[in-house]
Amino acid sequence: MNESNQEYIVISGARENNLKNVSLRIPKRKITIFTGVSGSGKSSIVFDTIAAESQRLLNENFSMFVRTFLPRFPQPDADALENLSMAVIVDQNRLGGGSHSTMGTITDISPILRLLFSRAGQPHVGPVNMFSFNDPQGMCPECNGIGRRLGVDMSKAVDKSKSLNEGAIMLPGYTVDSLDWSMLVQSGPYDPAKKLSEYSDEELEQLLYGKARKVATQFGGKMINITVEGVIEKFTNKYIKQDLKTKSERTQQTVAPFITEGTCSSCHGARLGQAALNCRINGHNIAELSAMEVGQLIRVIREIDDAIAAPVVNALSERLQHLVDIGLDYLTLDRETDTLSGGESQRVKMVKHLSGSLVDVTYIFDEPSVGLHPRDVHRLNELLKKLRDKGNTVIVVEHDPDVIKVADHVVDVGPHAGSHGGTIVFEGTFQGLLESGTLTGTHMKRPLQLKNDCRQPTGKLPIKEATLHNLRNVSVDIPTGVLTLVTGVAGSGKSTLINDVFLGQHPDAIVIDQSAVGVSTRSNPATYTGIMDDVRKAFASANKVNQGLFSFNSKGACENCQGLGVVYTDIGYLDSVKLPCEVCGGKRFKEEVLEYKLNGKSIAEVLEMTVEQALDFFQLKEVVRKLQAMSDVGLNYITLGQPLSTLSGGECQRIKLASELHKKGSIYVMDEPTTGLHMSDIGHLLAIMNRLVDAGNTVIVIEHNLDVISQADWIIDMGPDGGSKGGQVVFEGTPSQIIHEQQSITGRYLK
Ligand code: ADP
Ligand code: ADP
Ligand code: ZN
Ligand code: ZN
Repeated sequence: MNESNQEYIVISGARENNLKNVSLRIPKRKITIFTGVSGSGKSSIVFDTIAAESQRLLNENFSMFVRTFLPRFPQPDADALENLSMAVIVDQNRLGGGSHSTMGTITDISPILRLLFSRAGQPHVGPVNMFSFNDPQGMCPECNGIGRRLGVDMSKAVDKSKSLNEGAIMLPGYTVDSLDWSMLVQSGPYDPAKKLSEYSDEELEQLLYGKARKVATQFGGKMINITVEGVIEKFTNKYIKQDLKTKSERTQQTVAPFITEGTCSSCHGARLGQAALNCRINGHNIAELSAMEVGQLIRVIREIDDAIAAPVVNALSERLQHLVDIGLDYLTLDRETDTLSGGESQRVKMVKHLSGSLVDVTYIFDEPSVGLHPRDVHRLNELLKKLRDKGNTVIVVEHDPDVIKVADHVVDVGPHAGSHGGTIVFEGTFQGLLESGTLTGTHMKRPLQLKNDCRQPTGKLPIKEATLHNLRNVSVDIPTGVLTLVTGVAGSGKSTLINDVFLGQHPDAIVIDQSAVGVSTRSNPATYTGIMDDVRKAFASANKVNQGLFSFNSKGACENCQGLGVVYTDIGYLDSVKLPCEVCGGKRFKEEVLEYKLNGKSIAEVLEMTVEQALDFFQLKEVVRKLQAMSDVGLNYITLGQPLSTLSGGECQRIKLASELHKKGSIYVMDEPTTGLHMSDIGHLLAIMNRLVDAGNTVIVIEHNLDVISQADWIIDMGPDGGSKGGQVVFEGTPSQIIHEQQSITGRYLK
């Protein structure tokens, strides 16, 4: 294309965070990939500058009145930003939404499936909302469309191997010889000496579920009329059908262990009323299709031969194909979105946009390869290309060389992190990047080395006959005292095996995941790692004052913002607006506290230091040890006072790792710890894992990154594929063995 016809997003003099007057042109309607070590400034350009300005411009389209209600986006620190279009950020934030949000609803596939049933289902049921569990007309009346209901935990309520005399009824109130127990025994045709397992069906039905009825009975020498009802029926009416929260705390505690959430007995989890469930296409009802894996569902849909429904069938298979294309064929439409992983959530969001009709949008992706096996990365690439070919600008932050390959344009940010980064070190093609001599270019050319001197396990932790989700009776030993990698394509069962089954047996394991750290808005790396306590003490003794002064949670805090540095203004029911505190200017402390110095620096100045600067500044042994741990996990560039809420998932994971590094004899479980890590930092991460193992710990890591997998002492490979085609251990052994294993997809890629 002629250079003069090519349009660009133009950035001049960008200075957000660590950016050093960055000027840059990003070609429109092309794929541009940002690379560089973590902390180099990729997000500062892509999110804090481009996306922020697009959002701000979008808000300016609203009237002044509406705008006062919208979150305010400050203008990014840059000289000029030109040619921006609307930006859509497709990130890894989990899709919340509760039980009424499913894969089908979020991708807009469920409404089309409902339309199909209203047109082609037999016997005919209309209107279309009869097929929606979110619609009062369609939802199962028993569970209100949730598919689950509170019920009595039968295994705890009755023991059928006992008689009434032996205490077969374990619900509260029925201890042998108690009033309720005596009434029950007196009232019925029950033989108190007979085991419940020997009762006839009718007897058992009456004992457990009998409706309330009056019975004349001999009691205390007199004939009286008493009301009796089945024990489960009575418990249900008293505690489950009524809001338990209105009962006394003591009652709640006694009763709670007997209540469990189970599948709704009326719709069997299908969430819909009977009319909808009786309606079928080629023998399947809508609930059965929603519970089918997408890979199989698409075949069933394509077999529907009905002239009237043809356009709906086509629309449906097109969207389902998008899910297959992105490697989500192992998911079902009825899967609740809040159970999806970060990577899965991002891919689901991507599908939603692919089906939409927006053009000239700037799509921004944050490491879309997360959670994808090397085998499936090309599928992601195809989708990125499709978005581009529809006339959109695609901007991606990515570390995976197989994704970087599809870039029309690469921007490498660096050379290092924090103040040592913030410049563009290379711009051009993928080939150009390889020859550029930058950290990214150089690391991409390095060949993979397989570990040969694998450690010998010190013992084993067995998993026996696990069947959760897709696991097919998996029995496998996790070796102790070594570095074990759990591998396999997405949906093969890695997380189910380790996070659900293994951690269920070993709740004492140290889990290093990507979930947010820090419970309060006041948390930062210094408070999280405990450095802040030592720093406060040092300031107090150097100045001979109380250490509480140096805490922004207490006396020393700026009174206007209570030590937050920002002030939140709530406007009605909308998101609150955050503004810098006018009194302390964001420094969080009272003016007089800032007068106290430690080696010439105020407490606010210390909190503005990066880990690297703090390592130069402090000599205190404990502080240095904690700082060094952060430096070791590649977090040199973060500042001590940066709110934890501004850290990415990968950074959160590494800060957790840093604060757990000194433990010994423990089990560590990590889920994709390379997320957000540049190739050049993976060596550091491996060094830390090895140090943990050498110190006597057991380290278990779920990973797709081949550099990490190649350095395992032991590999457990799940597969062979995802969902119902997975759930088995296809290989156990060392890296040099797995490359000879035909069955293992991971082995093939390692080779
Ligand atoms: P990357 O995306 O390449 O990992 P970032 O753009 O997130 O890098 O970070 C670049 C630098 O800016 C780092 O030193 C980081 O600590 C700093 N930084 C990023 N966000 C903030 C923030 N909200 N407040 C203060 N510093 C920040
Ligand atoms: P991996 O970690 O290898 O990507 P998972 O363990 O997440 O695989 O998934 C294995 C299978 O279990 C998949 O078919 C997935 O859809 C299913 N699964 C995982 N979590 C849940 C859940 N919370 N509810 C229902 N099915 C689940
Ligand atoms: Zn129901
Ligand atoms: Zn303040």
